[in-house]
Amino acid sequence: MTEQLNAFKMAQAQFDHVAELLNLAPQARAMLRQPTREFKFQIPVRKDDGSVEVFYGYRVQHSDVRGPSKGGIRFHPSETLDTVRALAMWMTWKCAVADIPLGGGKGGVAVDASTLSETEKEHLCRGWIDQIYRNIGPRRDVPAPDVGTNPQMMGWMMDEYSKLVGEYTPGVITGKPVGGGGSLGRTEATGYGVVFAIREAMKHLGIDSSKSVAAIQGFGNVAQYAAIGFIEKLGGKVACVSYWDREDRTPYTISHPDGIDPKYLKTITDIYGTIDKEKAEEQGYVIEDSGAWITKDVDVLIPAALEGQVNKDSVQKISDRVKILAEGANGPTTLEADAVLKEKGIFVIPDFLCNAGGVTVSYFEGVQNDMNFYWSEEEVLNKLDEKMSKAFKDVLDMSKEEDVYMRDAAYMVAIAKVVKAMELRGWL
Ligand code: NAD
Repeated sequence: MTEQLNAFKMAQAQFDHVAELLNLAPQARAMLRQPTREFKFQIPVRKDDGSVEVFYGYRVQHSDVRGPSKGGIRFHPSETLDTVRALAMWMTWKCAVADIPLGGGKGGVAVDASTLSETEKEHLCRGWIDQIYRNIGPRRDVPAPDVGTNPQMMGWMMDEYSKLVGEYTPGVITGKPVGGGGSLGRTEATGYGVVFAIREAMKHLGIDSSKSVAAIQGFGNVAQYAAIGFIEKLGGKVACVSYWDREDRTPYTISHPDGIDPKYLKTITDIYGTIDKEKAEEQGYVIEDSGAWITKDVDVLIPAALEGQVNKDSVQKISDRVKILAEGANGPTTLEADAVLKEKGIFVIPDFLCNAGGVTVSYFEGVQNDMNFYWSEEEVLNKLDEKMSKAFKDVLDMSKEEDVYMRDAAYMVAIAKVVKAMELRGWL
Protein backbone atom coordinates (compact mmCIF):
# COMPACT_ATOMS: atom_id res chain seq x y z
CA MET A 1 0.00 0.00 0.00
CA THR A 2 1.45 3.37 -0.95
CA GLU A 3 1.70 6.40 1.32
CA GLN A 4 -0.63 8.24 -1.04
CA LEU A 5 -3.30 5.58 -0.66
CA ASN A 6 -2.88 5.93 3.09
CA ALA A 7 -3.67 9.65 2.91
CA PHE A 8 -7.07 8.99 1.35
CA LYS A 9 -7.74 6.04 3.65
CA MET A 10 -6.79 8.23 6.62
CA ALA A 11 -9.15 10.99 5.42
CA GLN A 12 -11.94 8.41 5.09
CA ALA A 13 -11.18 6.90 8.51
CA GLN A 14 -11.35 10.35 10.15
CA PHE A 15 -14.65 10.99 8.39
CA ASP A 16 -16.09 7.59 9.42
CA HIS A 17 -15.20 8.25 13.07
CA VAL A 18 -17.07 11.57 13.13
CA ALA A 19 -19.94 10.25 10.98
CA GLU A 20 -20.47 7.73 13.78
CA LEU A 21 -20.37 10.44 16.49
CA LEU A 22 -22.90 12.50 14.52
CA ASN A 23 -25.00 9.45 13.71
CA LEU A 24 -25.08 10.50 10.04
CA ALA A 25 -27.60 9.02 7.63
CA PRO A 26 -26.12 6.23 5.44
CA GLN A 27 -26.76 8.24 2.22
CA ALA A 28 -24.80 11.21 3.60
CA ARG A 29 -21.94 8.92 4.59
CA ALA A 30 -21.90 7.24 1.19
CA MET A 31 -21.81 10.57 -0.67
CA LEU A 32 -19.18 12.26 1.52
CA ARG A 33 -16.76 9.30 1.76
CA GLN A 34 -16.04 9.68 -1.96
CA PRO A 35 -15.42 12.66 -4.24
CA THR A 36 -18.33 13.95 -6.31
CA ARG A 37 -16.25 14.15 -9.53
CA GLU A 38 -12.74 13.20 -10.60
CA PHE A 39 -10.71 14.06 -13.67
CA LYS A 40 -7.44 12.56 -14.85
CA PHE A 41 -5.97 13.81 -18.10
CA GLN A 42 -2.87 13.92 -20.28
CA ILE A 43 -1.03 17.19 -20.83
CA PRO A 44 1.38 17.15 -23.78
CA VAL A 45 4.04 19.84 -23.28
CA ARG A 46 6.46 21.11 -25.95
CA LYS A 47 9.90 21.29 -24.29
CA ASP A 48 12.58 23.87 -25.08
CA ASP A 49 14.54 21.29 -27.12
CA GLY A 50 11.52 20.75 -29.41
CA SER A 51 10.51 17.36 -27.98
CA VAL A 52 7.09 16.69 -26.46
CA GLU A 53 6.69 15.26 -22.94
CA VAL A 54 3.33 13.99 -21.70
CA PHE A 55 2.38 14.74 -18.07
CA TYR A 56 -0.60 13.51 -16.06
CA GLY A 57 -2.91 16.06 -14.49
CA TYR A 58 -5.70 15.64 -11.95
CA ARG A 59 -8.65 17.55 -10.56
CA VAL A 60 -10.88 16.13 -7.87
CA GLN A 61 -14.08 17.88 -6.78
CA HIS A 62 -14.94 16.33 -3.44
CA SER A 63 -17.99 18.46 -2.74
CA ASP A 64 -19.78 21.48 -4.16
CA VAL A 65 -22.83 21.36 -1.93
CA ARG A 66 -21.95 24.59 -0.03
CA GLY A 67 -20.58 26.43 -3.07
CA PRO A 68 -18.04 25.98 -5.89
CA SER A 69 -15.26 23.48 -5.10
CA LYS A 70 -12.10 25.17 -3.85
CA GLY A 71 -8.53 23.99 -3.48
CA GLY A 72 -4.97 24.20 -4.71
CA ILE A 73 -3.01 22.63 -7.54
CA ARG A 74 0.15 20.72 -6.53
CA PHE A 75 3.04 20.15 -8.89
CA HIS A 76 4.86 17.26 -7.22
CA PRO A 77 6.60 14.13 -8.56
CA SER A 78 4.66 11.75 -6.29
CA GLU A 79 1.25 13.27 -6.97
CA THR A 80 -1.46 10.64 -7.55
CA LEU A 81 -5.22 10.57 -7.71
CA ASP A 82 -5.26 9.32 -4.10
CA THR A 83 -3.28 12.22 -2.62
CA VAL A 84 -5.51 14.61 -4.52
CA ARG A 85 -8.66 12.83 -3.25
CA ALA A 86 -7.54 13.13 0.38
CA LEU A 87 -6.60 16.79 0.04
CA ALA A 88 -9.88 17.56 -1.75
CA MET A 89 -11.88 16.02 1.10
CA TRP A 90 -9.93 18.01 3.72
CA MET A 91 -10.67 21.20 1.73
CA THR A 92 -14.41 20.53 2.08
CA TRP A 93 -14.04 20.43 5.88
CA LYS A 94 -11.68 23.45 5.95
CA CYS A 95 -14.10 25.67 4.01
CA ALA A 96 -17.02 24.50 6.13
CA VAL A 97 -15.26 25.09 9.46
CA ALA A 98 -14.20 28.57 8.32
CA ASP A 99 -17.82 29.08 7.21
CA ILE A 100 -16.95 30.27 3.74
CA PRO A 101 -19.50 29.36 1.06
CA LEU A 102 -17.26 27.00 -0.90
CA GLY A 103 -16.80 23.27 -1.27
CA GLY A 104 -13.65 21.18 -1.51
CA GLY A 105 -11.43 20.35 -4.45
CA LYS A 106 -7.79 19.74 -5.25
CA GLY A 107 -5.67 19.30 -8.35
CA GLY A 108 -2.22 18.34 -9.37
CA VAL A 109 0.35 17.27 -11.89
CA ALA A 110 2.92 14.52 -11.36
CA VAL A 111 6.04 16.59 -12.11
CA ASP A 112 9.18 17.94 -10.47
CA ALA A 113 8.67 21.58 -11.44
CA SER A 114 12.32 22.43 -10.62
CA THR A 115 13.38 20.39 -13.70
CA LEU A 116 11.37 22.65 -16.06
CA SER A 117 12.38 26.00 -17.56
CA GLU A 118 10.05 28.98 -17.06
CA THR A 119 8.69 28.54 -20.60
CA GLU A 120 8.03 24.84 -20.03
CA LYS A 121 6.28 25.63 -16.74
CA GLU A 122 4.09 28.14 -18.56
CA HIS A 123 3.21 25.53 -21.23
CA LEU A 124 2.34 23.02 -18.50
CA CYS A 125 0.12 25.51 -16.64
CA ARG A 126 -1.70 26.53 -19.81
CA GLY A 127 -1.98 22.84 -20.82
CA TRP A 128 -3.57 21.97 -17.44
CA ILE A 129 -6.24 24.62 -18.07
CA ASP A 130 -6.77 23.52 -21.71
CA GLN A 131 -7.72 20.05 -20.44
CA ILE A 132 -10.01 21.05 -17.57
CA TYR A 133 -11.45 24.49 -18.40
CA ARG A 134 -14.88 23.10 -19.24
CA ASN A 135 -15.20 21.71 -15.72
CA ILE A 136 -13.95 24.63 -13.62
CA GLY A 137 -15.02 28.27 -13.30
CA PRO A 138 -15.97 30.89 -10.70
CA ARG A 139 -19.33 29.12 -10.11
CA ARG A 140 -18.01 25.54 -10.47
CA ASP A 141 -14.55 25.01 -9.09
CA VAL A 142 -11.86 27.56 -8.24
CA PRO A 143 -8.23 26.31 -8.06
CA ALA A 144 -5.33 28.06 -6.27
CA PRO A 145 -1.58 27.56 -5.71
CA ASP A 146 -0.18 24.79 -3.52
CA VAL A 147 3.13 22.91 -3.24
CA GLY A 148 5.20 23.53 -6.40
CA THR A 149 2.95 26.25 -7.84
CA ASN A 150 3.00 30.02 -7.28
CA PRO A 151 1.13 33.27 -8.03
CA GLN A 152 2.78 33.72 -11.46
CA MET A 153 1.54 30.29 -12.51
CA MET A 154 -1.98 31.23 -11.37
CA GLY A 155 -1.66 34.36 -13.54
CA TRP A 156 -0.87 32.20 -16.62
CA MET A 157 -3.74 29.84 -15.83
CA MET A 158 -6.23 32.68 -15.39
CA ASP A 159 -5.06 34.16 -18.70
CA GLU A 160 -5.47 30.84 -20.53
CA TYR A 161 -8.96 30.31 -19.10
CA SER A 162 -10.00 33.88 -20.00
CA LYS A 163 -8.82 33.36 -23.59
CA LEU A 164 -10.68 30.05 -23.92
CA VAL A 165 -13.99 31.37 -22.58
CA GLY A 166 -13.62 34.70 -24.38
CA GLU A 167 -13.87 37.02 -21.40
CA TYR A 168 -11.64 38.27 -18.57
CA THR A 169 -12.43 35.89 -15.70
CA PRO A 170 -10.13 36.57 -12.74
CA GLY A 171 -12.46 34.67 -10.36
CA VAL A 172 -11.61 31.32 -11.96
CA ILE A 173 -8.49 31.00 -9.83
CA THR A 174 -7.11 32.57 -6.64
CA GLY A 175 -3.62 33.21 -5.34
CA LYS A 176 -2.93 35.45 -8.33
CA PRO A 177 -0.26 38.14 -8.08
CA VAL A 178 -1.34 41.48 -6.60
CA GLY A 179 -1.99 43.77 -9.59
CA GLY A 180 -3.07 40.72 -11.63
CA GLY A 181 -6.33 40.16 -9.74
CA GLY A 182 -4.74 38.98 -6.46
CA SER A 183 -5.73 40.18 -2.98
CA LEU A 184 -3.60 42.15 -0.58
CA GLY A 185 -2.99 40.16 2.60
CA ARG A 186 -2.99 36.74 0.89
CA THR A 187 0.75 36.20 1.56
CA GLU A 188 0.34 36.85 5.29
CA ALA A 189 -3.08 35.17 5.58
CA THR A 190 -2.24 31.64 6.70
CA GLY A 191 0.44 32.62 9.23
CA TYR A 192 -1.61 35.48 10.68
CA GLY A 193 -4.65 33.20 10.78
CA VAL A 194 -2.60 30.76 12.90
CA VAL A 195 -1.78 33.65 15.26
CA PHE A 196 -5.44 34.75 15.55
CA ALA A 197 -6.37 31.16 16.47
CA ILE A 198 -3.57 31.02 19.08
CA ARG A 199 -4.75 34.33 20.57
CA GLU A 200 -8.27 32.90 21.00
CA ALA A 201 -6.87 29.69 22.53
CA MET A 202 -4.82 31.76 25.00
CA LYS A 203 -7.91 33.73 26.03
CA HIS A 204 -9.72 30.44 26.64
CA LEU A 205 -6.82 28.99 28.65
CA GLY A 206 -6.06 32.21 30.53
CA ILE A 207 -2.50 32.56 29.18
CA ASP A 208 -0.85 35.99 29.04
CA SER A 209 0.34 36.16 25.43
CA SER A 210 2.90 38.90 26.17
CA LYS A 211 4.76 36.50 28.49
CA SER A 212 4.53 33.54 26.15
CA VAL A 213 7.18 31.85 24.04
CA ALA A 214 6.69 29.77 20.87
CA ALA A 215 8.84 27.30 18.95
CA ILE A 216 8.14 26.93 15.23
CA GLN A 217 9.01 24.22 12.74
CA GLY A 218 9.57 25.55 9.21
CA PHE A 219 10.46 28.96 7.86
CA GLY A 220 8.37 29.14 4.71
CA ASN A 221 5.27 31.18 3.99
CA VAL A 222 3.19 29.96 6.95
CA ALA A 223 6.01 29.90 9.52
CA GLN A 224 7.40 33.33 8.62
CA TYR A 225 4.11 35.13 9.15
CA ALA A 226 3.21 33.01 12.17
CA ALA A 227 6.53 34.14 13.73
CA ILE A 228 6.05 37.81 12.79
CA GLY A 229 2.43 37.78 14.00
CA PHE A 230 3.31 36.00 17.27
CA ILE A 231 5.74 38.80 18.10
CA GLU A 232 3.92 41.82 16.66
CA LYS A 233 0.29 40.92 17.35
CA LEU A 234 0.59 38.90 20.58
CA GLY A 235 3.70 40.51 22.07
CA GLY A 236 5.29 37.09 22.58
CA LYS A 237 8.75 35.72 21.84
CA VAL A 238 9.76 33.07 19.30
CA ALA A 239 12.58 30.83 20.54
CA CYS A 240 13.40 29.14 17.25
CA VAL A 241 12.35 28.18 13.75
CA SER A 242 13.57 25.24 11.71
CA TYR A 243 14.20 24.73 8.04
CA TRP A 244 15.47 22.39 5.34
CA ASP A 245 18.96 23.41 4.20
CA ARG A 246 19.09 22.86 0.43
CA GLU A 247 22.89 22.92 0.30
CA ASP A 248 23.54 20.45 3.12
CA ARG A 249 20.33 18.55 2.31
CA THR A 250 19.68 18.48 6.07
CA PRO A 251 17.04 20.08 8.29
CA TYR A 252 18.18 22.37 11.15
CA THR A 253 16.66 24.29 14.03
CA ILE A 254 17.90 27.85 14.42
CA SER A 255 17.46 29.65 17.71
CA HIS A 256 18.57 32.82 19.47
CA PRO A 257 18.99 33.24 23.24
CA ASP A 258 16.95 36.50 23.14
CA GLY A 259 14.35 35.12 20.71
CA ILE A 260 14.63 35.16 16.93
CA ASP A 261 13.94 38.19 14.74
CA PRO A 262 11.87 36.74 11.87
CA LYS A 263 12.06 39.92 9.80
CA TYR A 264 15.85 39.75 9.85
CA LEU A 265 15.88 36.01 9.13
CA LYS A 266 13.57 36.60 6.16
CA THR A 267 16.24 38.83 4.60
CA ILE A 268 18.70 35.91 4.64
CA THR A 269 16.22 33.21 3.50
CA ASP A 270 15.78 32.06 -0.11
CA ILE A 271 12.44 31.42 -1.81
CA TYR A 272 12.52 27.76 -0.74
CA GLY A 273 12.81 28.62 2.97
CA THR A 274 16.55 27.89 3.34
CA ILE A 275 18.29 30.26 5.78
CA ASP A 276 21.91 31.42 5.26
CA LYS A 277 23.26 29.93 8.49
CA GLU A 278 26.72 31.52 8.32
CA LYS A 279 25.17 35.00 8.26
CA ALA A 280 22.80 34.01 11.08
CA GLU A 281 25.66 32.72 13.24
CA GLU A 282 27.44 36.07 12.84
CA GLN A 283 24.36 37.64 14.48
CA GLY A 284 24.45 35.29 17.49
CA TYR A 285 22.06 32.63 16.22
CA VAL A 286 22.65 29.03 17.27
CA ILE A 287 22.31 26.16 14.79
CA GLU A 288 20.88 23.00 16.32
CA ASP A 289 19.72 19.66 15.00
CA SER A 290 16.38 19.48 13.22
CA GLY A 291 14.46 17.89 16.09
CA ALA A 292 15.44 20.58 18.65
CA TRP A 293 12.38 22.78 17.96
CA ILE A 294 9.97 20.30 19.58
CA THR A 295 12.06 19.93 22.76
CA LYS A 296 12.08 23.66 23.63
CA ASP A 297 10.81 24.92 26.98
CA VAL A 298 8.00 27.02 25.49
CA ASP A 299 4.24 27.62 25.83
CA VAL A 300 3.28 27.09 22.20
CA LEU A 301 4.51 24.71 19.50
CA ILE A 302 3.71 25.56 15.87
CA PRO A 303 4.55 22.82 13.36
CA ALA A 304 4.45 24.70 10.03
CA ALA A 305 6.55 22.57 7.68
CA LEU A 306 5.56 19.02 6.80
CA GLU A 307 3.09 16.30 7.68
CA GLY A 308 3.83 13.67 10.36
CA GLN A 309 6.36 15.76 12.33
CA VAL A 310 4.64 15.29 15.67
CA ASN A 311 4.89 11.51 15.83
CA LYS A 312 5.19 8.73 18.38
CA ASP A 313 8.89 9.50 18.99
CA SER A 314 8.98 13.29 18.85
CA VAL A 315 5.80 13.72 20.93
CA GLN A 316 7.62 12.21 23.95
CA LYS A 317 10.16 15.06 23.84
CA ILE A 318 7.59 17.84 24.32
CA SER A 319 8.28 19.86 27.48
CA ASP A 320 5.72 19.92 30.32
CA ARG A 321 5.50 23.69 29.88
CA VAL A 322 3.81 23.39 26.45
CA LYS A 323 0.12 24.33 26.65
CA ILE A 324 -0.86 24.75 22.97
CA LEU A 325 -0.05 22.92 19.75
CA ALA A 326 -1.14 25.07 16.80
CA GLU A 327 -1.09 23.03 13.59
CA GLY A 328 0.02 25.44 10.87
CA ALA A 329 0.96 22.57 8.53
CA ASN A 330 -1.53 20.12 7.05
CA GLY A 331 -1.51 16.78 8.89
CA PRO A 332 1.54 17.45 11.16
CA THR A 333 0.35 15.06 13.90
CA THR A 334 0.13 11.28 13.56
CA LEU A 335 -2.74 9.34 15.13
CA GLU A 336 -0.39 7.84 17.76
CA ALA A 337 0.98 11.25 18.74
CA ASP A 338 -2.54 12.64 18.94
CA ALA A 339 -3.37 10.12 21.67
CA VAL A 340 -0.30 11.26 23.65
CA LEU A 341 -1.23 14.95 23.27
CA LYS A 342 -4.65 14.15 24.74
CA GLU A 343 -3.00 12.39 27.70
CA LYS A 344 -0.61 15.29 28.28
CA GLY A 345 -3.57 17.70 28.23
CA ILE A 346 -2.06 19.86 25.46
CA PHE A 347 -4.65 22.07 23.78
CA VAL A 348 -4.60 21.29 20.05
CA ILE A 349 -5.78 23.73 17.39
CA PRO A 350 -6.39 21.24 14.55
CA ASP A 351 -4.90 21.89 11.13
CA PHE A 352 -7.97 22.61 9.04
CA LEU A 353 -9.12 25.18 11.62
CA CYS A 354 -5.65 26.59 12.42
CA ASN A 355 -4.47 27.10 8.82
CA ALA A 356 -7.84 28.12 7.33
CA GLY A 357 -6.61 31.73 6.93
CA GLY A 358 -5.19 30.99 3.48
CA VAL A 359 -8.39 29.71 1.94
CA THR A 360 -10.37 32.42 3.71
CA VAL A 361 -8.39 35.18 1.98
CA SER A 362 -8.57 33.18 -1.27
CA TYR A 363 -12.34 33.42 -0.88
CA PHE A 364 -12.00 37.19 -0.27
CA GLU A 365 -9.95 37.37 -3.47
CA GLY A 366 -12.80 35.74 -5.41
CA VAL A 367 -15.31 38.15 -3.84
CA GLN A 368 -13.16 41.15 -4.86
CA ASN A 369 -12.80 39.73 -8.39
CA ASP A 370 -16.59 39.39 -8.63
CA MET A 371 -17.11 42.99 -7.49
CA ASN A 372 -14.16 44.28 -9.51
CA PHE A 373 -13.40 46.35 -6.41
CA TYR A 374 -10.39 45.76 -4.19
CA TRP A 375 -10.00 46.14 -0.42
CA SER A 376 -7.05 47.56 1.52
CA GLU A 377 -4.75 45.14 3.33
CA GLU A 378 -6.14 46.34 6.66
CA GLU A 379 -9.69 45.56 5.56
CA VAL A 380 -8.69 42.08 4.37
CA LEU A 381 -6.84 41.24 7.61
CA ASN A 382 -9.68 42.56 9.81
CA LYS A 383 -12.16 40.39 7.94
CA LEU A 384 -9.76 37.46 8.28
CA ASP A 385 -9.53 38.01 12.04
CA GLU A 386 -13.34 38.02 12.33
CA LYS A 387 -13.65 34.75 10.39
CA MET A 388 -10.86 32.98 12.29
CA SER A 389 -12.20 34.10 15.69
CA LYS A 390 -15.72 32.92 14.83
CA ALA A 391 -14.47 29.59 13.47
CA PHE A 392 -12.40 29.05 16.63
CA LYS A 393 -15.41 29.86 18.85
CA ASP A 394 -17.71 27.48 16.94
CA VAL A 395 -15.23 24.62 17.37
CA LEU A 396 -14.52 25.41 21.03
CA ASP A 397 -18.27 25.60 21.79
CA MET A 398 -18.80 22.23 20.11
CA SER A 399 -15.91 20.72 22.04
CA LYS A 400 -17.43 21.95 25.33
CA GLU A 401 -21.02 21.01 24.49
CA GLU A 402 -20.18 17.50 23.33
CA ASP A 403 -17.19 17.07 25.65
CA VAL A 404 -14.93 16.06 22.74
CA TYR A 405 -11.35 16.72 21.66
CA MET A 406 -10.84 19.88 19.56
CA ARG A 407 -10.00 17.83 16.44
CA ASP A 408 -13.23 15.84 16.71
CA ALA A 409 -15.13 19.05 17.42
CA ALA A 410 -13.72 20.69 14.26
CA TYR A 411 -14.80 17.70 12.18
CA MET A 412 -18.23 17.73 13.83
CA VAL A 413 -18.77 21.43 13.07
CA ALA A 414 -17.61 21.01 9.47
CA ILE A 415 -19.46 17.81 8.61
CA ALA A 416 -22.68 19.03 10.24
CA LYS A 417 -22.59 22.17 8.04
CA VAL A 418 -22.05 20.16 4.86
CA VAL A 419 -24.84 17.71 5.72
CA LYS A 420 -27.18 20.59 6.57
CA ALA A 421 -26.55 22.08 3.11
CA MET A 422 -27.27 18.67 1.55
CA GLU A 423 -30.59 18.55 3.41
CA LEU A 424 -31.48 22.12 2.43
CA ARG A 425 -30.82 21.29 -1.21
CA GLY A 426 -33.06 18.23 -0.95
CA TRP A 427 -30.29 15.67 -1.43
CA LEU A 428 -31.13 13.67 1.70
P1 NAD B 1 6.89 26.48 2.20
O1 NAD B 1 7.35 25.57 1.13
O2 NAD B 1 6.82 27.94 1.97
O3 NAD B 1 7.80 26.28 3.51
C1 NAD B 1 8.12 25.03 4.05
C2 NAD B 1 9.21 25.24 5.10
O4 NAD B 1 9.45 23.98 5.73
C3 NAD B 1 10.54 25.71 4.53
O5 NAD B 1 11.11 26.65 5.41
C4 NAD B 1 11.40 24.45 4.53
O6 NAD B 1 12.78 24.74 4.63
C5 NAD B 1 10.88 23.79 5.79
N1 NAD B 1 11.15 22.37 5.88
C6 NAD B 1 11.07 21.44 4.90
N2 NAD B 1 11.45 20.26 5.36
C7 NAD B 1 11.77 20.44 6.66
C8 NAD B 1 12.22 19.58 7.70
N3 NAD B 1 12.43 18.29 7.49
N4 NAD B 1 12.45 20.11 8.92
C9 NAD B 1 12.26 21.42 9.15
N5 NAD B 1 11.82 22.27 8.22
C10 NAD B 1 11.58 21.79 6.99
O7 NAD B 1 5.47 25.90 2.64
P2 NAD B 1 4.27 26.68 3.36
O8 NAD B 1 3.40 27.27 2.32
O9 NAD B 1 4.79 27.51 4.48
O10 NAD B 1 3.46 25.43 3.95
C11 NAD B 1 3.86 24.77 5.15
C12 NAD B 1 2.72 23.83 5.57
O11 NAD B 1 1.51 24.58 5.74
C13 NAD B 1 2.38 22.72 4.57
O12 NAD B 1 1.92 21.60 5.31
C14 NAD B 1 1.20 23.32 3.79
O13 NAD B 1 0.38 22.31 3.20
C15 NAD B 1 0.49 24.02 4.93
N6 NAD B 1 -0.43 25.09 4.48
C16 NAD B 1 0.03 26.16 3.76
C17 NAD B 1 -0.85 27.17 3.41
C18 NAD B 1 -0.38 28.40 2.68
O14 NAD B 1 -1.21 29.30 2.46
N7 NAD B 1 0.90 28.53 2.32
C19 NAD B 1 -2.21 27.09 3.76
C20 NAD B 1 -2.64 25.99 4.49
C21 NAD B 1 -1.75 25.01 4.86
